[in-house]
Amino acid sequence: MFGFSSGGFGSWNLASRNPDVFGAMAVLSADSWLDMTHSCVDVSRRVIATAEPAATANATLVAVAAENTRERCSFCGKRRHQLDGLASSGDVLICSDCVKLCDEIVAEQLV
Ligand SMILES: [Zn+2]
Repeated sequence: MFGFSSGGFGSWNLASRNPDVFGAMAVLSADSWLDMTHSCVDVSRRVIATAEPAATANATLVAVAAENTRERCSFCGKRRHQLDGLASSGDVLICSDCVKLCDEIVAEQLV
């Protein structure tokens, strides 16, 4: 799936919520989504590291306990038992592996 601008936001949104349907996605110029993502990654990292809830401008994230083995990352599809940590904001979840990948992308200035 490929999306540009608002279509990029839509592509990211659909692909992240349906990892079993889409094998890959590309997003171009979805600036507001990327800015929001950067702040969410920082908060997600903190929630996973401390297991304490934390809030972004738009949502509150909580850590997913290890015994919730069926919960899965909205981005990569890995389940909680396959991960060091998982943070949830309602029906959107991000894992420790995806947070690490986001950090690598930012460090390499790929966005
Ligand atoms: Zn993930």
